[in-house]
Amino acid sequence: MTAGRDWRADPEAGQYTDPFWDALEADRFLLHRCRDCEETFFPPAPVCPRCGRTDVAWVEADGRGRLVSFTRQHVAPPGFEAPLALGVVELVEGPRLLAGLPGDAAPSLDATVELTAVEYDADYDRRDRSGRPFFAARIVE
Ligand SMILES: [Zn+2]
Repeated sequence: MTAGRDWRADPEAGQYTDPFWDALEADRFLLHRCRDCEETFFPPAPVCPRCGRTDVAWVEADGRGRLVSFTRQHVAPPGFEAPLALGVVELVEGPRLLAGLPGDAAPSLDATVELTAVEYDADYDRRDRSGRPFFAARIVE
């Protein structure tokens, strides 16, 4: 019998993404930028999604963006409390990413958000990233 798929986040640990996770612990958010075509992208990847070249470098993001979509789940997965708000954030640098929207503030489209490092409950299994922060988007206006 095959075990069910574990849908919880499982960030890959390893040398390649360590700079991202180390910066997040200092509440800084890093992105990758291609040195050839200047595409800025997330998640970090060794190959530029625009031109396919491999000359990519870490750059520090402003950390701010706007909320382009969101949903509120009233049945939360294990390790989270309902209701759980999640949104798609478009960073000022261009990349879009999915992030939790912690707090009681009601999200609205085009709201300005700021990425922030957050701690989750210990029972949220992040394997070798346990005890280290993850990121979420805080609504600022
Ligand atoms: Zn490129």
